[in-house]
Amino acid sequence: MITEHTIIIGAGPCGLAAGIELQRVGITPLIIEKRNVVHSISQYPTYMNFFSTADRLEIGDIPFTSPNDKPSRLEALNYYRMAAQRHKLRIKPYTSITKITKIDNHFILDAVDQYNEPSQYRADHVVISTGYFDHPNLLGIEGEDLPKVSHFFREAHPYAGLNVAIIGGSNSSIDAALELERVGAHVTVIYRRAELSRSVKAWVRPIFETKVEKGSIQLLLQSQVQSISKYHIEVNTSEGVVTLQNDFVLALTGFHPDQPFLTTAGVTIEAEGHPTFNEETMESNVPGIYLAGVVVSRKEDANEIFIESGRYHGNKIAAHLKQKYKLD
Ligand code: NAP
Repeated sequence: MITEHTIIIGAGPCGLAAGIELQRVGITPLIIEKRNVVHSISQYPTYMNFFSTADRLEIGDIPFTSPNDKPSRLEALNYYRMAAQRHKLRIKPYTSITKITKIDNHFILDAVDQYNEPSQYRADHVVISTGYFDHPNLLGIEGEDLPKVSHFFREAHPYAGLNVAIIGGSNSSIDAALELERVGAHVTVIYRRAELSRSVKAWVRPIFETKVEKGSIQLLLQSQVQSISKYHIEVNTSEGVVTLQNDFVLALTGFHPDQPFLTTAGVTIEAEGHPTFNEETMESNVPGIYLAGVVVSRKEDANEIFIESGRYHGNKIAAHLKQKYKLD
């Protein structure tokens, strides 16, 4: 068994930021990551630019500059990798924590590597910073498990010239629709509400609306896909059920944090839907378990925390542990 003072689960931007802040108060945590550093960013659409400016994504006082108005996915990958290296963070990649058990005043963490080989860690404190990208919001409809259905969009090229249905009316859907239209895909955006989500960015919305007006993107509002089959989808629209020819479905329906992972560790979920934690210290109702990043958000509104805000959670955790151990 490997014994650590503090283990951080998750090497996303918020987990890395927490690692740096803990090091600053004299604690050298081990960061255990299911895949590799900032894996979720590597899964973002290949040609994506962030909505945040580079300075709002910085961690550990390392400047993040970009020649562009907003940094790209690739620039962010370079930046966070370099920040982890500069701060000499200890990262154990390709290791999944499957269970956290509290015994007296410490925690036992069960882990498996990418070959499912088990190991165990012991720690006095655990920071859970597991993000939400591994948990897309599922539709629960027939055909959702077909290989042509994905909850992630990487790039448009594989869909050129094909009939692609996009489910959802928020930023991922609109960005993907525009990229797909540019490669000549026949795009239908299917959204359950009467108007596009208000969260769609102001500089993207008019471009999308123009494409819809011109007929190069089809938009079905107040519509829900009710089943998916090999060559078709059935859509429940305000004018009844229609059958559309379909080659691929991109269900860009957002993500939610893994709350069962929290509850099996003893963290309770409040009636409003977010886990129990102290906003001053980020400590959960389980003394010694801290939360950082999007895991503190409600399942129903997981976009309320993002890198810009979650990157500061580590400061609060470090301040609390510093006080607890009377560190200089
Ligand atoms: P999102 O904002 O959570 O939107 C999910 C969409 O799917 C919503 O329109 C939602 O409908 C719909 N939906 C959810 N469950 C559904 C269901 N069961 N049936 C039908 N529709 C369903 O997700 P997102 O667009 O992937 O964005 C996630 C986060 O990434 C956001 O913070 C966003 O700002 C960010 N993002 C950033 C960039 C960038 O930086 N360039 C690009 C894209 C996204 P309702 O509106 O009715 O809930």
